[in-house]
Amino acid sequence: MSRLLRPARVLLLGPPGSGKGTQTERLLKRFDIPGISSGDILRRHIKEGTEIGMLASSISKQGRLVPDDIMTKVVASELGRRHWLSPANSWLLDGFPRTRGQAEMLDSRELAPALAGLNFVVELVVPEHAILDRIANRLVHVPSGRLYNLTYNPPKVAGRDDVTGEPLTRRADDDPAVFRNRLDEYRASTQPLVEYYRNKAAGVVWSVAGETSDVIFAQLEREVVRRFGERVEETADGAEEAAGAAD
Ligand code: ATP
Ligand code: MG
Repeated sequence: MSRLLRPARVLLLGPPGSGKGTQTERLLKRFDIPGISSGDILRRHIKEGTEIGMLASSISKQGRLVPDDIMTKVVASELGRRHWLSPANSWLLDGFPRTRGQAEMLDSRELAPALAGLNFVVELVVPEHAILDRIANRLVHVPSGRLYNLTYNPPKVAGRDDVTGEPLTRRADDDPAVFRNRLDEYRASTQPLVEYYRNKAAGVVWSVAGETSDVIFAQLEREVVRRFGERVEETADGAEEAAGAAD
């Protein structure tokens, strides 16, 4: 693991099943960038049977989006709880903002000054056949959000989380018919955010394409180092080296 020289405030955008959760996990391991996933937060609410969870459960079962005002409250409280509200921190958002209304909230409300703006918006471009294949093989450990794929990344013990040994589950909304709604919803509500951020600040949006998460991560890793610089481990003679200081 290494640290970045400049704070990275990252948003991952991409259709359902494009690997946002997997890239988030890997960035956390590789660069120590903590992330939050709005989908994981909602799944925890559902598991705990909270009021928000009950609403989210009925909406996500249909592949629709939770209303902006509720989503915004949920994410704002998580940001506060994590003490991320300082421009010195690096962090990553997976699944939020996901509509124009949510993006405007992140930019304009009382959060904006303390949170500092997003400085890296990553668009994941993955062919539909790869996405559908992945969904059919996906398992999740709900308490942690850890993801498994029966083909690429199976659990060590079938049906059990590697770390806790707890049971893995299939997401109810990974059902093929529901999944189709989620793809449609992505195209209608979320994809326009790519343009929104492109118009806001030049060079913030970066698109990356690939059929597997490995191919995408290799490119993403390189781009993160190029943009934010990396503090490399100490060398044999004790001197620290900086790499990828792009500007
Ligand atoms: P994947 O996890 O495969 O990338 P996804 O991005 O569609 O797919 P999640 O982010 O896990 O899935 O979200 C699951 C469900 O939770 C969504 O279908 C939606 O109902 C709800 N949800 C998550 N984030 C938001 C959000 N920002 N706004 C509204 N609803 C959301
Ligand atoms: Mg996800």
